[in-house]
Amino acid sequence: MPELPDVEVFKRYLESTVLPKSITDVEVTDYTVLANTTQPALQRELVGNAFMSVQRHGKQLFLHTDGPAILAMHFGMTGKPVYYRQPEKKPEHPRVTFTLEEGYRLAFDCQRLLGRIHLLKDIDAFLRTHEIGPDALRIDEGDFAEAIQNSRSGLKSLLMDQTRIAGIGNVYADEILFRAHLSPRHKAARLTPAQTTTLYRDMKYVLEQAIAQQADRNRYPRTWLTPQRTKKSPGCPRGCGPLRQGKVNGRTTYWCPKCQE
Ligand SMILES: [Zn+2]
Repeated sequence: MPELPDVEVFKRYLESTVLPKSITDVEVTDYTVLANTTQPALQRELVGNAFMSVQRHGKQLFLHTDGPAILAMHFGMTGKPVYYRQPEKKPEHPRVTFTLEEGYRLAFDCQRLLGRIHLLKDIDAFLRTHEIGPDALRIDEGDFAEAIQNSRSGLKSLLMDQTRIAGIGNVYADEILFRAHLSPRHKAARLTPAQTTTLYRDMKYVLEQAIAQQADRNRYPRTWLTPQRTKKSPGCPRGCGPLRQGKVNGRTTYWCPKCQE
């Protein structure tokens, strides 16, 4: 499932491909992914304009055009942008395809149909309406500490709560908490100021390092927790013994019962 680092990689991919290319047609093959718009509206607002810049907030991407319309993409469980020219490069599940100048195409590929496309004019209004909190890479330490202190939930639930901090999902919440030596069920409001500072720095470190590795989970160091998720008997990378596996917030969670308190 795409989380902040994955979406940041998508952003860079789009910046190196679709900018600044003009849009000549929009084809919709599955309307499920259209959140607040229609094919005629997408055509009316986008055709004749060009993609000019890409902005990320949390797990959301915004594609600015040289017109008033902004295209928002959320990738759900399995979504990804695919840029191609030759028909044989067409992805397997294109739900919306933007035809661009010179025969290029940008497909919103989304196998499980949980991704969404919005058309909007004001990003701040969109973030308010959808109650999306500050981006995890841009939140400052004071606001982060406030979110921690005001929370009644456990740390993992808080990190994954998009209304408080936007961008972190299941996998990176576990990785950040492992690095910070904190248990996913540790009550957020019980953190000391020193632990809060550590968690804030570790959150940024994990997200930035993941982006530097192109969000490719196969490239993460063996000192990280994430590579253990696919192992038959996951063990603590610090050598403490077996990792614990359980549900937190209904999501499969890994942590070390010895070095995370
Ligand atoms: Zn351990």
